[in-house]
Amino acid sequence: LLSLRGVRKTFGTGAGQHVVLDGIDLDVAEHQCVVLVGSSGSGKSTLLRAVDLLEEIDDGQILLDGEDVANPWVDANAVRARLALVFQQYNLFPHLRVLDNLTLAPRVVHRRPRPSAEADAHAILEKVGLTHRARAYPDQLSGGEQQRAAIARALVGGPELLLLDEVTSALDPALAGEVLDLLLALRAEGTTMLVATHEMRFARQVADEIVFLHEGRIHERGTPTQVLDHPQRDATREFLRRLG
Ligand code: ATP
Ligand code: MG
Repeated sequence: LLSLRGVRKTFGTGAGQHVVLDGIDLDVAEHQCVVLVGSSGSGKSTLLRAVDLLEEIDDGQILLDGEDVANPWVDANAVRARLALVFQQYNLFPHLRVLDNLTLAPRVVHRRPRPSAEADAHAILEKVGLTHRARAYPDQLSGGEQQRAAIARALVGGPELLLLDEVTSALDPALAGEVLDLLLALRAEGTTMLVATHEMRFARQVADEIVFLHEGRIHERGTPTQVLDHPQRDATREFLRRLG
C-alpha cells in the first residue's frame, strides 16, 4: 500500500542544516501494522507528517499503490482522503459536539446529507465505545475519550491507512490503556497502520514490524521479538536499555 524509497528531509540551511530523515526505505502492506520507535528527535513525527504531505521532502519517493505522491503536482487533498493522521494532542474541534466533529467533513467536503453522515458516525462511535458521548462537547470528555473520539473522526470515510503519532503519550496510564485497547481492536480487524510510539509493551502487542529510527536512519527492523528481545545494533540496545 505504502512504500517510502530513499526519503530524505533536512531542516535549516547552511551550517544550521540538520538531516532528519536520511534515506528512509519503508513498506506498509495492506492489513499490516508497522511501528516506528526511536528516541526523541529521531524523526518519527517528521516521517508521519511527510506521508500525510504536511512536510515536503527533499529527496526520495512516497508511493501509494505505486503512485509517487511526493510531487508538487499531486492533489494533496485526494491523497489525504486516503490517509488519516492522529496526533498526540487532541485533534477535535472544541466548539462542536462529538457527533458533529465526525460529520463535519462528510457534510461540508463531501456534501453528504446529514442523516446518512450521522448514521455512519454513530456506527463508528459505537466501535470506539462512545455512543453515549455523541452529544457531548470535547471538553466534557476525559482525555482517553477525547483521543478515542479523535481516532473515531479519523476513521470517518474509511481511510486506507491510519497514521498515529504518540496517541497515548499525553494520557495517564489508565486512559492510555483504553486507547491502546481500541487500537488493538482496530488492528484485529485488519486496519492498516503506521504508528509512532514510546510504549514498547504496546509496540510488542500491535506490531507486525518494528522499525527503529536513529539519527534519521533505520538502524534495525524486524518482528517485535527480533528488535526488542534480540537487538543486533548497539544503538538499539542503548535505546532499549534507557527505556528500562
Ligand atoms: P519525539 O519522540 O520527541 O516525538 P520524533 O522522533 O517525533 O521525536 P521529530 O519531531 O520528527 O522527532 O523531529 C526530528 C528532528 O527534526 C528534531 O531534531 C526536530 O527538532 C527537527 N524538526 C522537526 N520539525 C522541525 C521544523 N519544523 N523545523 C526545524 N526542525 C524541525
Ligand atoms: Mg514525535
